[in-house]
Amino acid sequence: MTAVQSFDVAVLGAGLAGRLSAWHLVRAGVRVALIERGGPDGSGSAAHVAAAMLAPLAESAIAERRIVDLGIASVDLWRTWLKELPEPVFFQEDGTLVVWHARDRSEVSLFTNRMRAVAPPELVQQRLRALDGKGVADVEPELAGRFGQGLLLQGEGQLDNRGAMRALLACAISEGLHCIWEAGEVEASSLPALGIRANVVLDCRGLGARTAWAEPEDENGRALPGLRGLRGEVVRVHAPDVKLHRPVRLLHPRYPIYIAPKPNDLYVIGATEIESEDESPMSVRSALELLSAAHSLHPAFGEARVLELNVQRRPTRPDHLPAIRVDQATRVVRVNGLYRHGWLIAPAVTEAACHVVRAMLEDDPAAHAVPDALRWPGMIQPVREVASLASGALADIGTGMLH
Ligand SMILES: Cc1cc2nc3c(=O)[nH]c(=O)nc-3n(C[C@H](O)[C@H](O)[C@H](O)COP(=O)(O)OP(=O)(O)OC[C@H]3O[C@@H](n4cnc5c(N)ncnc54)[C@H](O)[C@@H]3O)c2cc1C
Repeated sequence: MTAVQSFDVAVLGAGLAGRLSAWHLVRAGVRVALIERGGPDGSGSAAHVAAAMLAPLAESAIAERRIVDLGIASVDLWRTWLKELPEPVFFQEDGTLVVWHARDRSEVSLFTNRMRAVAPPELVQQRLRALDGKGVADVEPELAGRFGQGLLLQGEGQLDNRGAMRALLACAISEGLHCIWEAGEVEASSLPALGIRANVVLDCRGLGARTAWAEPEDENGRALPGLRGLRGEVVRVHAPDVKLHRPVRLLHPRYPIYIAPKPNDLYVIGATEIESEDESPMSVRSALELLSAAHSLHPAFGEARVLELNVQRRPTRPDHLPAIRVDQATRVVRVNGLYRHGWLIAPAVTEAACHVVRAMLEDDPAAHAVPDALRWPGMIQPVREVASLASGALADIGTGMLH
């Protein structure tokens, strides 16, 4: 018979949200078990393949204002938190360079108009710089003569995702985190079979939590997907002949790509975004598009060595926003919907989720109030069918307290 071990919190899933939450809770003195279907390298997570760009202004060209706000708050948290990890993690805030080929210049006004419509005006004012050809060459000397114009989004960042995942885990383990790897497909109800008893369960399984996020059926009896996967493909190359210093985005009507330089001459070239749950290997078309676009940006990518062709699915809610779902009766908190912005927004989102978890541990409804700076409308979704909630704290959370 499996001996039962008791914890304050069981975190399901050791991808981005799971590792960050486990680290956060352990450091607050909470006894945490982290349970993952795969191994410690996180290779089954979206977090592992991501480019990990932290670019609130660039994302405002396709995202809502609240993602920009969560992103700005989160980058401040990354700056502080990464310094607190014993292992150094590559983190850069040297901006994003945006370029385009002359025939694609109509893309530029679409991109900047959207940023101006969504991002706070002061952010646009501070960060957006128009460059001529000399300006592009000053920022990235190897692109001299290749682009007559560009944009520099000053202060935009990126980090080494795999280094961050490693460092967060090592630090949390050194502070007492208990890990269970290769646990198979776990859900909250399967913890007793693993010998785990927990006061609260924090579900961070990304797309693996899909069934827990099912929406109620509509009037025609159709169940709507509350969480879907959006296929993304990226290539990792080793390119010692290329010296780019910051992420570069190439505007293009069909193949908009980014190239994010990582330590040791590695470059992440991405990413496709395909409305599909397909997790089969990368298509030839996507590989051709990504690699051709990189080669058109800088011919020295022709001699790069392809290390990985990666595919993952971004966990995405119908409104493309993150949410925290709280079930007071079963004491399960679920955080999900990080979509294509996970690395950008996870610190603020997981910090809010950890506030809710700690309030449940303390049985203190008042403590459910997430600090103002971490709130966004619709952030917390109480599981309303729970009768015991009728007039309780979670009813407040879903309505009056969080706007
Ligand atoms: C191609 C690509 C590029 C990206 N680029 C960026 C970027 O540049 N910037 C940015 O901000 N974001 C980026 N993202 C988004 C970011 O990676 C995701 O938003 C983020 O990883 C989601 O975090 P998560 O913890 O919810 O899920 P994941 O990171 O996927 O982690 C979920 C974990 O749960 C585990 N799990 C699942 N089911 C179970 C189960 N039943 N039992 C136990 N464990 C389970 C999985 O194995 C996994 O380890 C990118 C994503 C992709 C796919």
